[in-house]
Formats: sequence, C-alpha cells, structure tokens
Amino acid sequence: MSVPVLILVTRPLDDESEGSTDARPAPFSQADPALPHLSVLDLGATRGDGVFETVMVAKGAAPAIDAHLDRFAASAKLLDLPEPSRAVWRAAFDAAVAAHPLVDLLAVKLVLTRGIEGQDAPTGWILAQPGRDFSRERVEGVRVVTLDRGYRHDVAATSPWLLQGAKTLSYAVNTAAIREAKRRGADDVIFTSSDGFVLEAPTASVLLREGDRFTTPSAELGILPGTTQRRAFALLEELGYETGAVRLRSSELGRADALWLVSSIRRAVPVVELDGVAKAVDRELTARLNEYLGEH
Ligand code: PLP
Repeated sequence: MSVPVLILVTRPLDDESEGSTDARPAPFSQADPALPHLSVLDLGATRGDGVFETVMVAKGAAPAIDAHLDRFAASAKLLDLPEPSRAVWRAAFDAAVAAHPLVDLLAVKLVLTRGIEGQDAPTGWILAQPGRDFSRERVEGVRVVTLDRGYRHDVAATSPWLLQGAKTLSYAVNTAAIREAKRRGADDVIFTSSDGFVLEAPTASVLLREGDRFTTPSAELGILPGTTQRRAFALLEELGYETGAVRLRSSELGRADALWLVSSIRRAVPVVELDGVAKAVDRELTARLNEYLGEH
C-alpha cells in the first residue's frame, strides 16, 4: 500500500498585503497524513461548509487540472468563500503529484473549507492517493434508477442559496441517493428535476447518444459542469459526432440509443439498465472514450 501525500495549504488565498514576504511561512507544506491536522471546530467537518475537487492524474499527467481549478473557484464563489489563489493551488497540486510515486492513476483531492468557526480564515489541503480501479465497471456497466432530486430545473436561478451547481463538501444527499439505488437493486442514480428534466448522477455527469448526436444536460439546470463530459465531447467532435448541452425530459432517457455516466476517476461507465429496462451498450465506443479519457 502506498502512503497518501498530504499537502497543507497554509495560505490558500491571494496575498493582499504589500511589502516583504521574507518572514512569512511558505503557502503550503507537506505533512504526515497519519497525524491529525483538522480541528474538530472546522466548519468543513461540522457543517460540510466548503468545496472540493477530485482530479485524475494518469501516469503523472493531469489533463483537466485547469478546468478543475476553474470549477473550484466557481464553487467557492457560490458559497461566498474567498477566492482560492490559483497560483498557490496549482503549485501545491504539482507538489503533491511530484511527491507521490508514479502510479497509473492518482486521485488528487483539493479541499477548501470555511475554517474554524469565528476565525475567518479558510482551511485548505490536498490529498493525493491511488485512485480506485473502475476497469470492471467500464466494461460491465452500471444499473441505474432515476430519482427525483426534488428541485425544479430552474433552482439555480430561483434559489442560489441551495448551492446547486457548487461542488460542496456536503455529499450526504449524494451518498444517500446511491444507497437508495442499492435498495432498489441498482448501482447508481440519475437525478431528475421535480418538473421532469434529466440532471446528473450523484458523482458523475450523464451522456446520451441518439444516432450521431451526443448530448448532456446543460449546466444551467443547477448541476456541475463536468470536466470529463467536456473532454468526452472533444473526442466525439474529433470523431465527427454532433454534441450539445441541452434540456432533456426524463422520458428521453428511455429513448436514447446509449447512456453513460462520466466522471474523473471512473471515466465513462455505460448504463446497462435504466429503471429495470435493459439498455444497449456500444462497447467499442465506450472503450475508445475510456482510452482517450485516460490520456487526454
Ligand atoms: N456531477 C457531480 C454531482 C459530481 O460529483 C461529479 C464528480 O464528482 C461530476 C458531476 C463529474 O465531474 P467531473 O467529470 O469533473 O469529475
């Protein structure tokens, strides 16, 4: 078992103070992951009040790091957290990757919390460890049920305080939905809005194929703009397919020729069953997508 690499990001924000920087500690430093570092008073732990990203690093390369840093900043903004310093987080990320032995797949988690209650200083850290192997799921696929998320498709515009579309640390709802899928004899979930639009999975974006057209639900629907979905579209466009981010009625899921769940560490996993009905799987295209997503 390899030991995870922990980087504490001690100055996670851009420095506004002028003048000498000599006396100040480095903006980040490596720490022993076996030792405690997080206060029991940290709002990230007590309220899930913070944001995160999980970045795939394949054989030392992180093809989507810029998109993840963009989304990290966008999530922080939605939570009214101060803006994370791009330069600091990028350098800390590179340091985490460099400090870990080279492996096929590293999952690197970036976390920024609101910090200790009353102190007005965010907490930040990065943890790099080998990613779980999803090669079986990429071939065998997943059985999915649709579940109502309970919000309308326009929730991001009407109720921004619900933070739909931010990658917050509060994943209790996401994991509860996956447990509900298991109770129903499935593996995963596609959320729908209360007014019948397709949203996303609890930890992945949804991709649909209808003939030569590939679509994904638009980020305007209060869902995360997926970095993997974006890279998948780049390949599909290269292959001559049409792509689009759209509003899809949940009835359209059943009509799709093929469906995938896509995310950074899992990459593209075909949906083999939707609400108890078998779905066709395009094995060749799935393999091609996964090969590309592991490299580009
Ligand atoms: N949607 C949700 C809710 C997620 O948690 C994730 C990833 O964890 C995604 C979509 C896919 O995002 P990405 O492809 O950037 O990993």
